[in-house]
Amino acid sequence: MAQQEAVDSIAKIQKLRLQRMTWGLGAQFSTWLVIVGLYLFGMVPMLPAAIYFLMILTINLVFALLIKANVNLRFRDPSMTAAQIVAPIWPAVILMYFVADPQARTAFLLTAISGLMFGSFALSRRSMLAVSAFILTSYLALLTALHLFAPSRMDWRIELIIVFTYASVLVTVAYLGSYISSIRNTLREKNVLLAELAARDPLTQLPNRRSLMDQLSQEVARFERRTANEHELCVSMLDVDHFKRINDTWGHDTGDAILCRISNELRKIMRQGDFLGRFGGEEFIVILPESTLEAAQHTADRIKDCVANLHFPELPDGERITVSQGVSIYQPGERIEATLKRADEALYIAKEEGRNRIVVGH
Ligand code: GH3
Ligand code: MG
Ligand code: MG
Repeated sequence: MAQQEAVDSIAKIQKLRLQRMTWGLGAQFSTWLVIVGLYLFGMVPMLPAAIYFLMILTINLVFALLIKANVNLRFRDPSMTAAQIVAPIWPAVILMYFVADPQARTAFLLTAISGLMFGSFALSRRSMLAVSAFILTSYLALLTALHLFAPSRMDWRIELIIVFTYASVLVTVAYLGSYISSIRNTLREKNVLLAELAARDPLTQLPNRRSLMDQLSQEVARFERRTANEHELCVSMLDVDHFKRINDTWGHDTGDAILCRISNELRKIMRQGDFLGRFGGEEFIVILPESTLEAAQHTADRIKDCVANLHFPELPDGERITVSQGVSIYQPGERIEATLKRADEALYIAKEEGRNRIVVGH
């Protein structure tokens, strides 16, 4: 089951990666329009423009195929962010060589920045700076080539200003982008922490009522998906006997300590797959998936004996704590609240009949 969930979540991430790639294509689209414009205005020859489009098509196809075939999962960074930013740069640099007008070339420099912004999804400051350095070095290589082979197409004074401005913009974008990236990471960690906090009872550290209800609906969904009939789902509702008297006699702090102790001891005797949580106050719920009513009663018995035999250092010698339990079994198709209600009614009867006992709800 857990394995299937892991596969599902990988498929979801892979889908997100493809989606992000599509956004990237959207961002590259403006560059393509610029190139078509340059060609139509006679500022770039047809062959270099055609070669550019062929290279870009190949690059995007390769990335899409790597994701589709799950090959990217073997890479250190499966989202291939840096590679996807860097790969379209050289085709652009080659094309820029054929653009006669320095002002027109700056249009490409702008598009490289929007590519760099995609780095804020994943890249560290170091990687962002490295990608920036790569973009700048590529442009300097272009200038060197122009200087050597086509000096008429460049003006050193303009290029000096462009290179200086570009370098400072790149550094700013790299810093801001990596800052956004780090905020995203912190937020993600905080969200995980918050989700954990929201699911736990602060006193006993047991799963709280919200978490119990989530777990119950998951178990019900699993139950309804089952193929064979032999798997059943039971719950036991547990209430500490005369707890008000304990508080009144020995104080609220002692009451708290006793609740924690009971929680810890019960946690220890839970079977793997069973789920114990604090429903509220001095009431607990045990979820027993894949358990017959008989087995559930047996577990409830173990719980009863475990608590009744506990010795509490906070209480005078010989003073015992007991719990009453109402057990019920999930009926296919019903709402989980109905199962809980039967357990609650059974618990009430257990109290009526003298406490420290188990009653099964029908
Ligand atoms: P019964 O056997 O019928 O269950 O009697 P009871 O006294 O346990 O039942 P009742 O519902 O009257 O009292 C429950 C008490 O539990 C009242 C409440 O003050 C106490 N309680 C609820 N939550 C906490 C808690 O977190 N800490 C402490 N110390 N007491 C709590
Ligand atoms: Mg109660
Ligand atoms: Mg009680």
